[in-house]
Amino acid sequence: KSFNDYTLSEEILRALAGLGYEKPTEVQDKVIPVALGKKDLTVKSRTGSGKTAAFGIPVCELVEWEENKPQALILTPTRELAVQVNEDITNIGRFKRIKSTPLYGKESFSKQTAQLRQKTHVIVGTPGRVMDHIDRGTLDVERIRFLVIDEADEMLNMGFIEQVEKIVKTLPKDRVTLLFSATLPKDVEKLCRNIMKSPVDIEI
Ligand code: AMP
Repeated sequence: KSFNDYTLSEEILRALAGLGYEKPTEVQDKVIPVALGKKDLTVKSRTGSGKTAAFGIPVCELVEWEENKPQALILTPTRELAVQVNEDITNIGRFKRIKSTPLYGKESFSKQTAQLRQKTHVIVGTPGRVMDHIDRGTLDVERIRFLVIDEADEMLNMGFIEQVEKIVKTLPKDRVTLLFSATLPKDVEKLCRNIMKSPVDIEI
């Protein structure tokens, strides 16, 4: 298997080569073709499996550089994970000049709001701060076509599921939703049923 087996643009393939990714990991091989086909996905996989690139690669491939409003929203349970995912997206999207913006609590609204006034393709944030920006009108979600929920079981443990459902209600219905979780407790399965359209289930 090679990344060349998927329909990926030269800019993305060049970025992956630059990162030293020679071939897809198992989760990437299962997720990338399905996500490129714009199907909803529930993925049971652990950290360390290469799950970030499993959603990062299709997101970077499918966002359109020309569009001025954010097209992908990635929700993470913690600030640390938001920072990491934001870096990974920036690296994968480097040669396509994809701009990713992190949004998390305990950082000033004014700085984040200034960043949101610039063109950004991808938003990576924690639920509370993302919802605050939507409420304040500083994050425009009108053009969001991709939603990724990372570490959904951690979202549940931290009491963020209601917040996530509230955010999802503000998003366009015509979108692709990808959910990643190490385990699939009942409440995460319920979330999947509420926010996805007949998702493909992948287990690593
Ligand atoms: P993650 O599970 O997303 O936290 O990724 C775990 C680590 O694997 C990270 O350091 C990635 O940079 C690395 N990684 C992801 N995909 C690949 C790949 N296809 N080849 C080599 N390393 C990878």
